[in-house]
Amino acid sequence: MKLPKKVQIKEVGPRDGLQNEKVSVPTHIKVEWINKLSETGLDYIEFSSFVHPKWIPVLADAAEVAKLIKRNPNVTYAALIPNMKGLERALTVGIDEASVFMSASDTHNRKNINKSIEETFPVLQEVVDGAIKAEKNVRGYVSTVFGCPYDGAVDVDEVKKVVYKLMEMGVYEVSLGDTIGVANPKQVNDVLDELLREFPVDKLALHLHDTRGMALANTLVGVEKGIKTFDSALGGLGGCPYAKGATGNVASEDLIHMLGEMGIDTNVQFERFMEAAKYIENALNKSLPSHQLQIVR
Ligand SMILES: [Zn+2]
Repeated sequence: MKLPKKVQIKEVGPRDGLQNEKVSVPTHIKVEWINKLSETGLDYIEFSSFVHPKWIPVLADAAEVAKLIKRNPNVTYAALIPNMKGLERALTVGIDEASVFMSASDTHNRKNINKSIEETFPVLQEVVDGAIKAEKNVRGYVSTVFGCPYDGAVDVDEVKKVVYKLMEMGVYEVSLGDTIGVANPKQVNDVLDELLREFPVDKLALHLHDTRGMALANTLVGVEKGIKTFDSALGGLGGCPYAKGATGNVASEDLIHMLGEMGIDTNVQFERFMEAAKYIENALNKSLPSHQLQIVR
């Protein structure tokens, strides 16, 4: 197998993970959790979302979280930004990086952000311009790349169009989302083949959900194709509020473990990571399946 020496894990648990949890999590618990994650060797944490608090009440305290977390200079603290209002709020309290998002399928995009795909481009362009003006890098998310809960199969040409538009806007990387966890390894292979014909591999990342337990298999295909950035959430937390039944992200600890055992460095210290996992597991009063895993080295 041809494997990279190193890949980057972008921890999205505090945002993508929490946004679908039914319980409300007190701000100080989030802050403590993010502080613990910041000491694990991770260099990227998506800590919250500056969408209107009405849409995702569990993340309504994004600004407080941003103010209270202890910033590790080695960590990029990113947040999801839907529009200019969100960007202004975020810049006031301090973010290192903005993430903009949209879907490759029109119905999911409408359910998620109340706009058609075409109507979304100018809104995101404004955010990207505003963030770049404030000297922030911007990352783009494309949801439903491998399937949509409403429209079913998604045409790879639609994916290409959205990826192209985001790159043209000025994002430095596009994260390809299997938002509902329906992708299979052959499909990931084929979609990446198509995209890699047009976009450089170091500008693409994978964001895989694990509804059918295929996220690690899909990750492996990504690794073999040369993708070097993977999003994941501690404990496999998460889902999609607009895609009923979709389960969480690939669990970061599973990903870190698999890659580590294969000799691929993620820079994350597993034991420290598990301490952060136990902390939020207790706080959510939830048993996260991956935590039974014991690593013996
Ligand atoms: Zn996600």
